[in-house]
Amino acid sequence: MTAATSSSATSRLTRPVPFTPRRPVSAHLEASTDDLQSTGRIPRAITPSLLGSAKKFKAALSSESKSRLVTKPKPVLPSVPGTPTKKGSPDGSRPKTPTTPRRGTESPLLMPQVSEMDVSRVDPEEALVDFQSIEPGDISGEIDEAALADYGNEDKVLVSIRIRPTQATSAWQKSTAIPKSIKLDSHYAKSSTTAPQEFRFDEILTGSDNKPVYNAVARSHVCAAMDGYNAVIFAYGQTASGKTFTLSGDEDQPGIIPRAMKDIFAYIRRTPTREYLLRCSYLEIYNETIHDLLAPPSSSVSQPVQIQGTGANIVLTPLREEVVTSLKSVREVLQRGEGNRRTASTDWNERSSRSHSVFRVVIESRERGAGGDEAAIPSGRTTPGFRPPTPGGSRLQAKGGRSVQTSVLSLIDLAGSEKATSDKERTREGKYINTSLLTLGTVIATLAENSAKNKSDHVPFRNSKLTRMLQPSLSGNARISVIGTINPDMGAIGETTSTLLFAQRIKKVQLHAQKKEIVDTEALLERYRKEIEELKKRLTEKEADAPARNRRLSAREASW
Ligand code: ADP
Ligand code: MG
Repeated sequence: MTAATSSSATSRLTRPVPFTPRRPVSAHLEASTDDLQSTGRIPRAITPSLLGSAKKFKAALSSESKSRLVTKPKPVLPSVPGTPTKKGSPDGSRPKTPTTPRRGTESPLLMPQVSEMDVSRVDPEEALVDFQSIEPGDISGEIDEAALADYGNEDKVLVSIRIRPTQATSAWQKSTAIPKSIKLDSHYAKSSTTAPQEFRFDEILTGSDNKPVYNAVARSHVCAAMDGYNAVIFAYGQTASGKTFTLSGDEDQPGIIPRAMKDIFAYIRRTPTREYLLRCSYLEIYNETIHDLLAPPSSSVSQPVQIQGTGANIVLTPLREEVVTSLKSVREVLQRGEGNRRTASTDWNERSSRSHSVFRVVIESRERGAGGDEAAIPSGRTTPGFRPPTPGGSRLQAKGGRSVQTSVLSLIDLAGSEKATSDKERTREGKYINTSLLTLGTVIATLAENSAKNKSDHVPFRNSKLTRMLQPSLSGNARISVIGTINPDMGAIGETTSTLLFAQRIKKVQLHAQKKEIVDTEALLERYRKEIEELKKRLTEKEADAPARNRRLSAREASW
């Protein structure tokens, strides 16, 4: 670890919760939490019977997260780059929440098998959010409207480099000749005769402020996702280079994930013409097994998530998706996922540096019906026990002539990109060759080569879980932003160079993101009916105008 990360960085690690709510907790939540603290039991009120009212969804909080709300894990120092520790944190303690129930031992009372916000139990029509239901605390107070229209370059991956601050001398410098480029300081270059290679990117970011990072690398992609495009944002780099700091951040510096959620609610608030259904999932890929971080740890181990389908139609199952209606419910989902991830690991440092974590938000939206239109639409309510027919599919119906747009925003904290440092490390745990990361590199290289040389070589998406899951996005149907995080210290030159090379390669991948809109027959007919009405109206106006024109004409003729 470098000196730069010592004091503030260490204190950051004591706070795994990425951000805090700015508005007071609701009466319902306070009551529930008090209840739990005094009795240690889930209050009876938090049961699926709450599902009758959308308002009550806002306060729903699972007992898993409640038990974590009152505890904090012990501090851990970040692991030294390239040498993930085997024995846990330096002080020998396990950075585990003391009261966290261990895998398989959780009490049925404290670990509900099915969360009340699980999408399979929620009637989508009852959990919609729109501009009226968003509370001021759910949105960012720092919205810069001017920055909203820019979606970045539509056909290219947005590739940025973030240099972690250091108190040592940086081995890298921003180039003065070429803007937004970085090169190795000539003192550290192997050859003194040839100039060091200059790496050019869309953004080079420095410092500890996460707001400019969000604005530069994530905001346009989040807005694109709200507008119906799939979007993927991922951080790539060696362990301790700042991936988690960039994506999750901490209380003082919320990262991309919490800022994205605030922006999503802000977007809904300023879009009165649409209503939204938001659902989140949170998963981890560790040793080529996908764990659902929102499922109780015991069931996520006994029932790993499987990837089904091919090509653009990839479905993850069984994967829990939780409907969120406010920032508070998002925070609850994130806390629960993070807590389950810690519970599952015997060695947190090692697991977090070798696993990929993926936070996904499925955004469905529908045009809002005009006035009395709503009453005519059957709500389709069947709760409790509401179960949609297929996993992973859309939940909102394109009805009453209103089309539905669906998109997925994926925020991915990749495993550390460093290579194994010793044979011992290579041989344990099925070798430290991270299949997913290795395949990601090959897939990106092939895609880049294919688009550069107009070839169509086979792309080995199916060789790893991560690439298979990302296949629809990497094949081009998504806006992608990649943040390569680097440690500028002298000792990390090799790893930093390989991160820069990876980042440069992904820049060449060609994208062609399309919006997905579901329009059912009824919706189409309604659309045509409206078009016909509009045309008729214009025709009538023209006709009404015509006699007047004819009169003017005949008057002119008479004057001849
Ligand atoms: P990674 O997820 O890549 O392994 P982390 O995000 O955990 O790395 O960062 C390692 C340590 O460095 C953490 O303590 C983190 O708070 C700190 N850190 C990373 N990037 C920055 C930054 N830009 N400014 C300040 N501290 C940072
Ligand atoms: Mg990390």
